[in-house]
Order: sequence, then structure tokens, then C-alpha cells
Amino acid sequence: MKLLKPSFYILFLTILIASCKAKKAVVTTVDNKKVYKSQIDSFLDIAKQMQPTLLVDSAGTPIPADFIGTVNFNLRKPNYVIIHHTAQDSLAQTVKTFSLTRTQVSAHYVVGRDGKVVHMLNDYLRSWHAGVSKWGNVTDMNSCSIGIEIDNNGLQPFTDPQIKSLLLLLAYLKKTYNIPTANFIGHSDIAPGRKTDPSKYFPWKTLAERGFGFWSDDVLELAPEDFDYVTALRLIGYDTKNVNAAVQAFKLHFVQMDTTPQLTQLDLNVLFNVYKKY
Ligand SMILES: [Zn+2]
Repeated sequence: MKLLKPSFYILFLTILIASCKAKKAVVTTVDNKKVYKSQIDSFLDIAKQMQPTLLVDSAGTPIPADFIGTVNFNLRKPNYVIIHHTAQDSLAQTVKTFSLTRTQVSAHYVVGRDGKVVHMLNDYLRSWHAGVSKWGNVTDMNSCSIGIEIDNNGLQPFTDPQIKSLLLLLAYLKKTYNIPTANFIGHSDIAPGRKTDPSKYFPWKTLAERGFGFWSDDVLELAPEDFDYVTALRLIGYDTKNVNAAVQAFKLHFVQMDTTPQLTQLDLNVLFNVYKKY
């Protein structure tokens, strides 16, 4: 048998590896579509169920029940937008993370550094982005919110194209679902002490100028001597179980210059100004 030149084997091996990689990428996409569709089908099955809730009284006697469908209803809709940064290095990496079942995390949208927006879940469905969180008395943020991941590692400013795309996306969401101005918040706001995204580089002021969330006024009144800052934080929505963590979360969003748990006079003035908007 005539032996082929070593360069041929290298070429052959390269083609083989390349084709395996390409094949794997295609298979992953097809699998994702299949899993996405079968999960949608299973939720449709739940929505189609027409059975009354079965109740029993304290003696164990069943309460008579029936199911008679009303004709006046539609889908529940999101009422909050929660903004994150991915803490990953690329859009592709984030999309992959959200496409693997073992990670158990997802978001509705991912916004790339070049401004590209990837929509990963229908807005009416519940994505897994908030985790253990609380805002006001809402303890299941995933059920009432849209999660947006901004591709950023947390150490750099966000890019102009991605903020431009984000603003367009927020305008669409606000209009489509009639989301209140106050309800555009960050992951760090709803999970103080646990999450610090989006980072201090996130342009909350720019968002507030367009009607997405609030920001302090340019001229600040002096906070009163007896200002109850804990109640103010709570009225905004912060979970004040750990006051220091709530202060830090507030400062990350509304002050951004320092995120220590101490409240300076300026911080207090900002808080006094902001809480009155809620
Ligand atoms: Zn997050």
C-alpha cells in the first residue's frame, strides 16, 4: 500500500475536526428548537386544562365545584424589566449558557456589544434570571418581569451601540406592556447583598431621561435631620432586611461613585430626592 504524505493526514484531520465542530453546532440548534417547542406544548396542555380546584373543609368534606369557562381573558403580561450584565466575555458565550439545561439560567433578551439583540424567550413566558429576589412585596420577580442581559464583564463601560439598542428595546417593552416608569430596575436592586449587576458603569441616568426608571434631580434639597432612610429605601422597593446591603444596592444604582454601606450627606440628599418620586 502506498503511504500518503504526512501533510495529507494533517489536512484530512483538520477537515474531520472542522466538520465535527460544524455538525455539533447545527445539532445543538436543532435540539434547542425541539426542546423549546416541546416545552411550549407542555405549557399549552396546562392552559387547556378545564378542571375545578378541589377543596375540602376542615372535616374533610369535599366542597362542590365546577369549571365553567369565562369568555373574557387573555395572557398575563410582564410589568417589570430587570437589567443584568452577563459577567461573560461574549454574546455567543451567553447564548450558549442559556441554551444548556444544566445551567438553569436564562433571560428574554441578550444585548451584544455591537448592539445586536438576541431574543431568547417569548415575553409572555417566565425566564429564570432573577433568582432569590424581592422588590416591595413581590417575591417572585421572574413571574412578572422581562429579563435583559447586557453583554459586559462588569469591569468596563457599556458600549454606545448596545445602549442605543437597549433604549429601543425598552421603549418597545414599555409601550407594548404598559410598564410603569418606576419598574425598570437592576438585578442588584432586587437582590441586595447577593448581586451587583449591572455594574456602576451602567447609565441609569440616561435611561431615566428616556422614562425608564428614576434618577435624582440636579438640584437637591437637604435631607431632614430626622430622615428615616430605612423606610425611604423600603418605600422605593428595597428589601431592608439587611440594611447595609440595601444601602449599597441603592448607591450602586443612584449614586454609583462609591458603594460603601455608609450614607454621606450627599447620599442622604439623593435618597430623600429619589424616594419622593415613588
Ligand atoms: Zn443578573
